[in-house]
Amino acid sequence: MEPNQQYDLVIIGAGPAGMTAGIYAARAGLSVVMLEKGAPGGQMLNTAEIDNYTGFETILGPDLSMKMFEHTQKHGVAYAYGNVTKVTDHGTYKLVYTDSNEIYQTKAVIIASGAKNKRLGVPGEDELAGRGISWCAVCDGAFFRNQDVVVVGGGNSAVEEALYLANIVNQVTIIHRRQQFRADQAAVNRAKAHPKIVFELDAVVERFNEENGKLKSVTVKNVVTGKTKELIAQGAFIYIGLLPVSDFVKGLVDMDEYGYI
Ligand code: NAP
Repeated sequence: MEPNQQYDLVIIGAGPAGMTAGIYAARAGLSVVMLEKGAPGGQMLNTAEIDNYTGFETILGPDLSMKMFEHTQKHGVAYAYGNVTKVTDHGTYKLVYTDSNEIYQTKAVIIASGAKNKRLGVPGEDELAGRGISWCAVCDGAFFRNQDVVVVGGGNSAVEEALYLANIVNQVTIIHRRQQFRADQAAVNRAKAHPKIVFELDAVVERFNEENGKLKSVTVKNVVTGKTKELIAQGAFIYIGLLPVSDFVKGLVDMDEYGYI
């Protein structure tokens, strides 16, 4: 098949990195397209409040995404839907293939495809995905109004999304596998002071339990004592980090064992 699109630069991904690259490229006079398989914004779209982006005291993730996208449009960066499946290198040009049969010919490619949510890999997780288990508090938090939820993880995502959920639900239990948090101390302090947030530390999820096809409870195991217990929860939000989205350049560039380029 022949290429049906031509650009100086193809940017794969329209998260903050891709959109910023797009603005720089367009201002430098390059013809540039951003290919995105979701919506512009990337992980930002799944984030409630962002209060550490310079110049914006507090802004919602979807609002900042839209502002960045409008900025790219002001500079004429082309934007297209595209789930990239393969990139091939032909020396002076590269070809970028998408699953909608578009083939882009370009002088250069910027890979800004970001990452996807990691899964715990425990029983019940796949079966109850979308039936109580979620990876996006902003999208699904409202389904659990006045109910009890757990958040798994100890990074900034877990702690900040727990704070977001605490405004909606009855109680949030943060389940984290050790005592120390990877999250910023300021966020941890806010969570510790919140009356609706409790902690289950040194604890890992053993399984998610269902009733009538929906999440009913979470079995957690204390890694110090070895004891297990059941936490009643209608919702579970998993924030245990990210895995890079880089399959489409496997073999083309050097990667570590996790797929980071
Ligand atoms: P992260 O910082 O990698 O934290 C992942 C957390 O999940 C860690 O506490 C980790 O525990 C835990 N974890 C990992 N695998 C686990 C497993 N299999 N079972 C149980 N727990 C597990 O990920 P993130 O919170 O998604 O953040 C990603 C990046 O985005 C970070 O650089 C973060 O600072 C940044 N971020 C920033 C903001 C902000 O500044 N506003 C907001 C969100 C995210 P251990 O600590 O024991 O390894």
